[in-house]
Amino acid sequence: MQIIKTINDLTLALSEFRKKNPAGRVGFVPTMGFLHEGHLSLMKKAREQNECVVVSIFVNPLQFNNPDDFTGYPVNIERDSSLCKDEKIDILFLPSKEEMYPETPLISLNMPALVETLCGKYRAGHFEGVMLVVSRLFHLVMPDSAYFGKKDYQQLAIIKRMTKDLAFPLNIFGMPTMRERDGLAMSSRNVRLSAQAREHASLINRGLKLSLQARSKGNLNIEELKEIARDVMESGSMNRVEYVQIVEPNTLMDIEYLEDDTEFVIACAVYTDGVRLIDNMEWPGE
Ligand code: AMP
Repeated sequence: MQIIKTINDLTLALSEFRKKNPAGRVGFVPTMGFLHEGHLSLMKKAREQNECVVVSIFVNPLQFNNPDDFTGYPVNIERDSSLCKDEKIDILFLPSKEEMYPETPLISLNMPALVETLCGKYRAGHFEGVMLVVSRLFHLVMPDSAYFGKKDYQQLAIIKRMTKDLAFPLNIFGMPTMRERDGLAMSSRNVRLSAQAREHASLINRGLKLSLQARSKGNLNIEELKEIARDVMESGSMNRVEYVQIVEPNTLMDIEYLEDDTEFVIACAVYTDGVRLIDNMEWPGE
């Protein structure tokens, strides 16, 4: 595995690979590090489908609307590199902030239709920052395929659409959410939870599950389904629900009426002891 810190070296390594393997496919997994099984599942898929796999770790300052969240974001590059090695990653790209943004970008990307709902409503500038860094990374790596988690459902929808709108010649794969035994979605932020908060955090997925259970028993009342989820989450005194929404899977628009065959995503953000956690589930499930 090559560990690369500059754009120049990345370009050289990729052109070397492409010279030797003209038909070789490049798979790309962008991350912010502090890797867990969720990230590794993306890498495994990328490894299966490509001759060269590039993983990036870059904690993108532009996508943090809360400076404390940025400075407190967990980092462990040594452990991450060793996990990437185990996954047989070819190139681990670790750019500095100066390398990624030699100048403060003047361009801004937006997609109001998909940004002004769910998390975007509460995290001003977040998805603009995500779009900018992902499009820069796409230009640098020029992958054939890129892999993202459904855990960040809104992010995945935005990136799929950005890829279409800007005609990036690559495939986007959305991978299932990896969870802890009790259902909590794996997240780099989970390490910030105390033992007690960790228990309360497990109510987040429990709430979503119970809501879908009610749906499977025939409940088509949107308000009731959201209420079920919210009540379970709020039964943990350390949980503060930011939102629970039931949206259309592609447009992310709020659904007003459910019919028997309506597909939807129930998504939420919850602060557990001050740590912002997100989760979602699709109906019908996979
Ligand atoms: P992050 O490092 O949090 O920016 O995440 C990097 C990629 O891993 C994103 O595409 C995430 O959606 C994905 N990811 C994060 N957590 C999970 C998870 N629990 N299951 C599957 N994918 C995940």
